[in-house]
Parts: sequence; C-alpha cells; structure tokens
Amino acid sequence: MARIDLKSLAHSYFPDPKTDEDYALRRMEHVWEDGGAYALLGPSGCGKTTLLNIISGLLTPSHGQVLFDGKDVTSLAPEERNIAQVFQFPVIYDTMTVYDNLAFPLRNRGIDEKRVDARVREIAGMLDLNGKLKQKARGLGADEKQTISLGRGLVRDDVSAILFDEPLTVIDPHLKWVLRRKLKEIHNKLRPTMVYVTHDQVEALTFADKVVVMYGGKVVQLGTPQELFENPAHTFVGYFIGSPGMNIMDCKIDDGAAWVDGQRIGLSNRHLEAVSKQTGKLELGIRPEFLTLETGNADKGSDGIEVNITKVEDLGQFKIATTRFGTSEIKVKLGEDEQVVGQSGILRFVPEWTKLYADS
Ligand code: ADP
Ligand code: MG
Repeated sequence: MARIDLKSLAHSYFPDPKTDEDYALRRMEHVWEDGGAYALLGPSGCGKTTLLNIISGLLTPSHGQVLFDGKDVTSLAPEERNIAQVFQFPVIYDTMTVYDNLAFPLRNRGIDEKRVDARVREIAGMLDLNGKLKQKARGLGADEKQTISLGRGLVRDDVSAILFDEPLTVIDPHLKWVLRRKLKEIHNKLRPTMVYVTHDQVEALTFADKVVVMYGGKVVQLGTPQELFENPAHTFVGYFIGSPGMNIMDCKIDDGAAWVDGQRIGLSNRHLEAVSKQTGKLELGIRPEFLTLETGNADKGSDGIEVNITKVEDLGQFKIATTRFGTSEIKVKLGEDEQVVGQSGILRFVPEWTKLYADS
C-alpha cells in the first residue's frame, strides 16, 4: 500500500481555462498517509470524482503531479498504477459466477490458483458471499452485484490504494449500514490505503480516520471527525457537518468582543488575536450543541442574550430550538423534555466554542 502525494494538482475540463471558475479542481496540495482510511466528503459537483479519477489514472490533470510512495505516476495508465477502484454502479461480469468475478483481478495478475482460492474465500467470507460463490452474477439483485464489486475491489492485497466512488448509492439503507461496517472492519484488519468518496456525512464520519472536506474544487479541511466537529476551519465545514450544522452570523469586532445585531458576545483571546488584523467580512460560528438556553426568569447576567423561542423541532434523539434576537435566528440543541415554544429565554455563548471566520 502506498502514501499518496498530491502536488499542485489542478484540473479543468475546458481546453483553455481562464478564471478560477473554469477549474473543477483548484490547487490541491496534500499527503495521504499509507494505510489511512480517508473519506472525500462534499456536495455534488465539488470535484470528488475528478480527484479520484486523477489518482486512479482515468483522467490526466491539467497541472501538477500524483506520487505513490514518492514515485511520480501522473503519466501512467490506470493498469500501470496498481490501484483498485469501485464505482457507484456494479462493474462485474454477468455471465461469470460470483467466484470467478472475485477471482478475476487475481487471475489477471497471474496469481496461482491456490492463493486465488484462499483469497476469494477470505473476502467472500467478510462480505457474506460464501453461500453464493457458485451462482452466476446475472440472476442476482443490485445489492448483491454491488457487494461483488466491493469484493473485487478488496480482493488484491498488493494494490497501492483502493478507491471507492460513492459505492453504496444503489444499496438499500439497512445493508448500507452492514457494508459500511464491514469496510471499516476490513480496513482495520488489512490496513490498505483507502479513499472513499461520499456526499453523506454519516458515511464519511463512520468510515474514515481522516475526512477530506471538499467545496468548490478545493479541500477546505482535512481532519479527524472530531476535529471537523469541534474546530471547523471554514464556515462550509461547520454548516455541512453536524445536524443541524453550525449557526453562522455576520459580526463585527469592537471593545474586545464580537457584536451580532447589537448584542455583545464574548470571545476567547485566542480567537480575538486570530482575527485582529482582518479587515474584511467577519462571521461568527457556533454549533447548536455548544450553546445554553435558560428559560423561566433566568438571570441575564453579563453574558446572556434575551431571545424568543420561535420553534422546537423533535429530531428523535434530541430537540432543536430556534431562538431569535433582532433579525438573527440561532439554533440550540435541547435536552429531552424541554417545552419552551413561545417563551423567552437567555442564550449563552461559550467563548471557547465561539469561532470567527474571515472571508470564507
Ligand atoms: P462530484 O464527484 O463531487 O459530484 P465531479 O468531479 O463529478 O464532482 O465534477 C466537478 C465539476 O466538474 C462539476 O462542475 C462538473 O460539472 C464538472 N465535470 C465533471 N465531469 C466533467 C466532464 N467530463 N466534462 C466537463 N465537465 C465535467
Ligand atoms: Mg462524483
């Protein structure tokens, strides 16, 4: 398995790109460690498939290089790169048995039959395909065919990396959970370098050690699920990760604090220093989980903001209150039993969890 370096990578599908907007990928500069489980997460159209296809060699980048373990592979064809790739839809041979489908990538490399057999049975066992090995793929359902595709991606143990492009799209929701867990188990056991593309945060956060969040052709943050939750580097990460995402408001800095709609919001010195030289637009972000809301004649004190509670949504495991002051709407996560719609309350920001974003 390999370490993957992306060096000054950029790609445009236009023959003669002029502006930044003409690029599907812009300025990628990253190192993905050997044996890592990476998820590429971002909305549709942000460049995930483009990046994956550049790594696998299906696409040649307009600029920059891809290195596997320090070796430049940018101009190598996919079959010369030693990569396994699993796509959104099954890529299998309908007329072959499940066994032969799984064995294909190994036989193709001239691996001896004894080793092929051991490996096919090992992977089939992991994916619960052992009972179906003798069946022709043709008669199987879409879920089973895609499971075979996953198996074909996993069966070789000598690839530099395994790339998955939204592989669970056609799978029904229950089996999705099962397969996602299996992929994670397989990663823990065999430690291949895996890159898993998805637009689904739950999928990314459960699969990956490191999540690469993409937005508008760029990586806006690469971090552990916890880092993305606690310290979003960009308002997009705050908004996209979490449910609901981060509250984001325009703010001004004055007198050692942030001001939103005429209300003072205390900040940590660390956050204040980070923006002290910024002159452009500033936004303040805080997650619904990190705010406190007190009702019933709570004391405003020096750091509270008076709010009206306009809505409470029950999301099953928890509730989300929408609070309002001035023209700002702020979502707050509530404990189980709070009945607060129509009441007023006191909202408190915790300085350490209140983030500032400049020009994002
Ligand atoms: P994602 O996989 O994140 O949905 P893609 O990598 O498929 O995003 O697409 C990134 C951008 O490149 C989009 O704006 C898309 O319209 C454009 N694009 C993708 N493939 C092509 C192509 N073959 N020709 C022209 N534009 C493309
Ligand atoms: Mg895609």
